[in-house]
Amino acid sequence: MAEETIFSKIIRKEIPADIVYQDEWVTAFRDINPQAPTHILIVPNKLIPTVNDVTAEDEQVLGHLFVVAAKVAQNEGVAENGYRLLVNCGSHGGQEVYHLHMHLLGGRRLGPMVVRK
Ligand code: 5GP
Repeated sequence: MAEETIFSKIIRKEIPADIVYQDEWVTAFRDINPQAPTHILIVPNKLIPTVNDVTAEDEQVLGHLFVVAAKVAQNEGVAENGYRLLVNCGSHGGQEVYHLHMHLLGGRRLGPMVVRK
């Protein structure tokens, strides 16, 4: 059984977060440490630790993340100029919270996708 993270508590509203959207499948809330004027995390309500743990059963909820991303982008006013959707996986991917989530970043030009070394 995967261990819960702070995101499960946010989803259950046991700890505060600025939730911008919630339905039976996913919850979207503002990142506590925003990297862009708009920085929202779109999280499946079900705990899936990383992309490595995804199974065929998760297809519906993971597809729904994109539907919600489009909706949230519209609501936030970033749809027209564009934005970036990002999913980190594991330590090389820079994942900090082991509850799969999609970052929606927008509101400014985001620059190159990966920092060159
Ligand atoms: P990761 O690096 O795992 O892809 O992204 C985790 C994100 O969660 C980070 O951008 C971090 O700022 C955000 N975060 C971590 N803890 C909290 C929290 O308690 N509340 C909110 N709203 N965001 C959090």
